[in-house]
Amino acid sequence: MNDVFCKALINGDVQELLKVPKSDIHSHSTKACRRAWLEERINRKLAGPPERFDGLMGMQEWFTSEIKPFCSGSEGIVLRWEGAFAEAQRNNIKRLAMNFGAAEIDLVGGMDNFRKLIDTFYQKYIPDSVFEPEITYVSMCDIDLEAGRMDGYISSGFFKSIDVCGGEGIRPFEAFLPLYRKAGEYRLVKRMHVGESGTADDVRRAVEVLELDEVHHGIHAAESDEVMRFLADNRIQLNVCPSSNVMLGYAKDYKDHPIKKLYENGVRVTINTDDLLIFDSSVENEYLKLYQSGTLSAEQLNEIRENGLINYK
Ligand SMILES: [Zn+2]
Repeated sequence: MNDVFCKALINGDVQELLKVPKSDIHSHSTKACRRAWLEERINRKLAGPPERFDGLMGMQEWFTSEIKPFCSGSEGIVLRWEGAFAEAQRNNIKRLAMNFGAAEIDLVGGMDNFRKLIDTFYQKYIPDSVFEPEITYVSMCDIDLEAGRMDGYISSGFFKSIDVCGGEGIRPFEAFLPLYRKAGEYRLVKRMHVGESGTADDVRRAVEVLELDEVHHGIHAAESDEVMRFLADNRIQLNVCPSSNVMLGYAKDYKDHPIKKLYENGVRVTINTDDLLIFDSSVENEYLKLYQSGTLSAEQLNEIRENGLINYK
C-alpha cells in the first residue's frame, strides 16, 4: 500500500488516493460532509468558501449565512451526518473519529434515538471501519451543568473520547476539570482544541492540567523546542488540519505549515479535515496539498497516514 499511496501523491492521482485506507481523527460531525454531496441531496448549489476567513467568528458567520439556511433543524443535521459517513466511504476512511455535541443529540430525541440513527449510517456506509464517536463541549458552556449531565451521554460506552472546542483562552484550563475528570472515570480518550490560535505553552499547560492524551490542532507547539520535546517524550499526538489552519489564518501557508517542524521534531501527527463542509478539502486532498506544496515528502506523508490508522496510546 505504501508504494501505491506514494505513487498516487507523486502523480497527483486523486482516484488512487481515495482508494488507499486513511483516517480522519478530527472532524466536527455536523460539518463533515462534502458540499457536492449535500448539493445533490438538497438539489441546489451552495456557495464555496472564501480563500480566507476572518478567524473562527468569520467562519461561523459564513456557515450560518451561506450553508445552514439550506440544511437546518434536526432534518438538516441528520442529512449532514449521513453525508459525513458517505464521505468516509468515498475516501476509504478506515478509522473515523467524529465529534458530536449534546445539543445535537437532544435535537434528535436523545441518546437512544441518536445511537440508532448513527449506527444506521455506520452500517450502511463504513461497516468495516473503526468508528470512534467523540463528545464535544464548547468552551463557553456551563461546565458544572454539563459535567452533571454527562453520565447520561457517556455511560452507555458509545463515546470513546472527549473534546472541548469553540475558541481558546476563554477560561483557565483548570475550569474544564469537572468535564475531564468525568471523562477520566469512563476512560475516554481526552482531547481538546488547543494551540490552534493559542501558544506552545498553552498546549503544554492543557496537557498537564487536563491530562490530555491527544491535542486537536496544537500547531503552535512548533514554536517551542521544549514543548515539542515534551509532546514527543509523552507520546502526545497532534491531530492537525492544514486547510483549516491556512484558511483561518493560523498558519501562513501549506509550504511552511508547522506540521513539517512538528514531524521533524518527532511529534506524532495525523492529518484531518476539521470541517469539510466549510474548508472544502477532503482527506486525500489534505495529503496532496502538503505533498504538492513541498511541505513533506511522499514517504513522510505515508508514514503519517499509517500512523493515523493506529491508536497511539
Ligand atoms: Zn475543530
